[in-house]
This record gives sequence, structure tokens and C-alpha cells, in this order.
Amino acid sequence: MKCHGCGVEIQTKDPNGLGFLPEHVYEKFIGHEDEALCQRCFKLKHYGELIPVSINKNFYNQLKSVIHEFNTVLWVIDIIDFEGTFDSNILELVKNKDIFLLINKVDLLPKSVPFTELKNWVYNRVKNKINVNKDNIRLISAKKNFGINRLIKILKEKDIKKAIVVGTTNVGKSSLLNNITNVKITTSSFPGTTLGIVKRKILGTDIEIYDTPGIETNKRFTDIFDIYTQVEMIPKKTISRKTFKPDVGKVIFVSALFRFKILSLAKDNLKPIFLIFSPENISFHQTKEERVEDLLKSHIGDVLFPPYEKDYPLNIEYEKEIFSIGEGDELAMPGLGWISVRRGPLNIEVVKPKGIDLILREPLITPKRGEII
Ligand code: GDP
Repeated sequence: MKCHGCGVEIQTKDPNGLGFLPEHVYEKFIGHEDEALCQRCFKLKHYGELIPVSINKNFYNQLKSVIHEFNTVLWVIDIIDFEGTFDSNILELVKNKDIFLLINKVDLLPKSVPFTELKNWVYNRVKNKINVNKDNIRLISAKKNFGINRLIKILKEKDIKKAIVVGTTNVGKSSLLNNITNVKITTSSFPGTTLGIVKRKILGTDIEIYDTPGIETNKRFTDIFDIYTQVEMIPKKTISRKTFKPDVGKVIFVSALFRFKILSLAKDNLKPIFLIFSPENISFHQTKEERVEDLLKSHIGDVLFPPYEKDYPLNIEYEKEIFSIGEGDELAMPGLGWISVRRGPLNIEVVKPKGIDLILREPLITPKRGEII
């Protein structure tokens, strides 16, 4: 089988070699070989010339060596995964700059979320970490072309001459730049670095925009999977939600990689009530504790997903942690969505991959007065 992008023979053994395709994806192309695309070409298709990088010392030093040339940073964040995309490594690199936080994908939130509240929420999350005024927090949708003209107008008004754009993978950085800039005018590595940076200009202006590769964080549930699965996990519709009112002892799975057990009743000895918000291709499933092993043995890929294939290679070390989530609060699961507690406290024992931290936060979506769901 050959890659229809680069023509190289497809192989499934060496992830760093040419023509690599994960085995489970390879199998999907059997029967329609002419559609096969190796991992590198798939990434090129999704990310353009700026193939994602993982944060390592090398990348860090390279970005550090160019960042001093910029006063202004456009940092693209995905509102559906704020915790996973307001990344501490990026923060470290840009915290002293003049930052515009571009809060993308607001079209995926339920219509009932008022934008002023949303902006305040973001502001409260970041105000102690970066020096940003509310006007530099821009709610946008690269896909629906919302907030984009206003953004350009503000950059012009503030007389910004050039800015560097940063963001983790899949936040919508390319979608945004493809909308607002001309085709690239130079693809250059800054002298002394191999970091690909593409210089463009915002259409109808002289503002120079320097695009950098998307950063893989290894702190999101999504990062566990290969890029083909990651693309499936990206929400395309308004974020799905489901209400739960479980008995003590019940276990709830979100995808196959994360589950939690209800440890106690909520206030007044009533069952806890909570909602789970997730992208549409991520499963929620409530079960009894004694069914957990069977589900993990026989139902990964159908009842529990992602992964979307039964024999997906998962070699994950898990750990347990106990959380108490107050009524009204949320527990964010980076890359998977969040749990929003409507009758609490919700005391749970979670089982999660090591290294992926869950974050307790003020609610992004608050119920209206008197409303539970
Ligand atoms: P990048 O990795 O940051 O360059 O992200 P891309 O521009 O490739 O976008 C990743 C995915 O998010 C793609 O499936 C896009 O269609 C989608 N996407 C980007 N911006 C938006 C947006 O504003 N709204 C929605 N709903 N999807 C978006």
C-alpha cells in the first residue's frame, strides 16, 4: 500500500520512519488503498507546513530565542478545552508579553451562555497569571467568522505592527490564520533555529503575523491518541450534555480512559445531580461497579469510546484520586469536557491516566436561577 500524498510505501512499525501509519488505521484502508495517507501527510493536510511539535528543551530554547523579537502575542485558546489549551509551558514563554487571548470555538457553546459572562470567566481564570486587560480577551469563532473583523480592527487601532501566534494543537490556529491572512509570503526558520515560522500579513493591513507550530501538551486526554483519533475527537456540533442522578456506588465512564465512582450522597441525603459536557464523539456511560472489568475487557470501542477500535493499543498507567466538587462548580477533564455539579457536593473517586490532571473550576456554564439542567 502506498501513501497517496507522498507515494512512499506505507509501514506500521516505525513511527519516526517514512510512510508510517498506525496499524489500526492501516487496517481501515484495506480495500480502499488509494485513500491511504501516511501520518506525516495527514499532519501536513491538517496543520499545513507547521507540523506540531512537542514541548522539549530544544523547542523551548528555539522559541525563547525568537520571542524577544515580539512585543505582541496572539495566543489561541479553545473554549471547549480551556484547561488543556491555556497551557503552562506556553504561559511560561509569553507571560511578560502584550497578550491577546483569542478564545476560539465559542460557536460550540450552548446559545444560552452570555458573552459578557464568558469574558469575565476567562478574565478571572487568567488575571493572576498574565497581564491582560479585558479588551485583549477576544471571543471568536474562526469557523463561523465571528469576532474576527473586530479583532483586526483592534489590532489596527492599537497600532500593532507585528505579532507572533501561538497555541496548542487543534485550537483552530490554522483556521483563523487562513481566514485573516494572505497566503504565506515566506517560510523561514529564524537564523540559528530549525523552528518553522511562517510569516504572513493580515488581509488589507500591514500587520505581520508570525505563525508557529502547534504544541502537543501531553496533558490532555486527546494527547494519548494518535492524530487520526484526535481529529475524530474534535467537536463539530454544540457541545453535548447529559444529566446524571446516580446512586452511591455507581460508576460513570467518560470515554474508555476515564471513570469515576460516586462515593456519597449530596446535601439533605439526596442523590447528587450533575451534567457532563463533552464533544459528540466521546461516550458517557453509567454502570455498576461489578460491570467495570467486563466493560473494559469487552466493550472498548463500542460502548466506551474513544478509542473507536476494539484492539487499539493502549498501554496506560492509571491512578486514583478523590475529588469533592461543590454545588455549582465544575471539574474539567482536559480534552474530554467537564462535569458540572447541580446538586452537591459530588464526592467521587476518579481513575485516570497518570500525568493528566483534572481541574476544579468556577462554572463556565451556570444554570439559570432555579434551573437544574
Ligand atoms: P490548529 O491545529 O490549531 O491549526 O487547528 P485547526 O485550524 O486545524 O482546527 C482544528 C479543528 O477545529 C478543525 O476540525 C477545525 O474545523 C475546528 N475549528 C477551528 N476553529 C473552529 C471554530 O471556531 N469553531 C468550530 N466549531 N470548530 C473550529
